[in-house]
Amino acid sequence: MYLKQMKLQHYRNYGHIELEASPQVNIFIGPNAQGKTNLLESIYVLALTKSHRTHKDKELVQWNEERAIIQGELERRYGACRLDLMITNHGKKAKLNGLEQKKLSNYIGSLNVVMFAPEDLEIVKGSPSTRRRFLDMEIAQVYPGYVHQLGQFQKILAQRNQYLKQQFGKSNASSDAMLDIWNQQIAASGTKIMQKRQQFIYKLQKWADHIHSGITAGAEKLDIVYRPSFSVESFDDESMVFEQFMVKLTQMKEQEIRRGTTLVGPHRDDIEFFINDKEAHTYGSQGQQRTTALSVKLAEIELIHQEVGEYPILLLDDVLSELDRNRQTQLIETFQSKVQTFITTTGLESVNLQKLQEAKIFNVESGS
Ligand code: ATP
Ligand code: MG
Repeated sequence: MYLKQMKLQHYRNYGHIELEASPQVNIFIGPNAQGKTNLLESIYVLALTKSHRTHKDKELVQWNEERAIIQGELERRYGACRLDLMITNHGKKAKLNGLEQKKLSNYIGSLNVVMFAPEDLEIVKGSPSTRRRFLDMEIAQVYPGYVHQLGQFQKILAQRNQYLKQQFGKSNASSDAMLDIWNQQIAASGTKIMQKRQQFIYKLQKWADHIHSGITAGAEKLDIVYRPSFSVESFDDESMVFEQFMVKLTQMKEQEIRRGTTLVGPHRDDIEFFINDKEAHTYGSQGQQRTTALSVKLAEIELIHQEVGEYPILLLDDVLSELDRNRQTQLIETFQSKVQTFITTTGLESVNLQKLQEAKIFNVESGS
């Protein structure tokens, strides 16, 4: 798939712009603070209805304006597709081929993107919540129902937490029956999330190891391991995972009531990365951690292709300059003929131009 055209209105520092993209490589070039990342971000938001940089939609609307609009014309294997996204201070509206989609899960997935930005190092170095957010954003693109399931889980989690808080200091049979209902609900909903995450990581691992081995000329083996909040023997059988979830909740009952919060479930998940069997978060060098993050991102490209049947769009924010020539070449050569790519840079000297077949260059200057 590729983006043919796009329009922005009142998005960040852009008043009104239109651009026609090359199906291959597009480069946004300009000094700092001109709006290069804002452009990449707008493509990401068009795809996922959320920014990779902020949770607050309000920040995406140009200062002193009411609403931001992002529009895109896509070319997909089965034909053209038009996306319209409007963001206001009170919410957002998404249209697919002119028809409003009440459920965002029907909209997300129409455009697939993989973004690689300097802050992606946090997937390896950062906190578990960063990794969970990464997982959720990526899974949402591949399994459209996931967004809805995640929303359900979060609702149940909030209600169960509230219930636990009320139980502090109480002990009677009726509250036990009520807690059992909450346990059933959270275990059923949480099991679905955990299964999706486990499957996703399993597939991602295969591609990431393959790519990582290529980048490091076979010197490094990369493993990605799913670490749920309780140990699960096998994820193949949903009812088994559910049973183990229930057992763990029973074990943790006293502690959960004492602390007034749910201690078991996918909201406590984590992922670990191992380079040659050593944990990358603790033992990896800066370069190894960066390469790990890159391998994971490139693996996503292949995974989306495998699951969706088309390659996603690749967004590279300021990352070429951070990679050495070999890694840059590897990146460009692998994907340029099959993946539409948008690159930001402050200067072309950091881009290995000899390896680029054909690129369209856009000069970005204070929001135009
Ligand atoms: P760098 O090379 O430093 O990464 P950049 O070209 O990627 O720069 P952007 O991150 O795209 O720069 O930001 C450009 C400018 O957009 C910033 O200076 C910021 O002040 C401005 N900006 C951010 N949000 C808004 C908004 N909601 N309304 C108007 N301007 C905004
Ligand atoms: Mg930038």
